[in-house]
Amino acid sequence: MLSKRKLIVYIDVKYPLHFCIDTLLHEYGHAISWRHVSMDAYIPDHSDEWGVCFARIYRDFVDEGGDKESGNY
Ligand SMILES: [Zn+2]
Repeated sequence: MLSKRKLIVYIDVKYPLHFCIDTLLHEYGHAISWRHVSMDAYIPDHSDEWGVCFARIYRDFVDEGGDKESGNY
């Protein structure tokens, strides 16, 4: 049984919108590629699996018009 599996991303809105969005998509890629049972076993990395997840998330973001909706992205 898995215990709590939670990833919280804090983004400081003092940064430009495009930076905040990039950070959120990047961290979301980590969450999607997260296959570890607990945070104790989790070492953030940019593995091939993360790269594929990030690419898919980014493509969906653009394909759905997120880049246009966010204005100055
Ligand atoms: Zn990362």
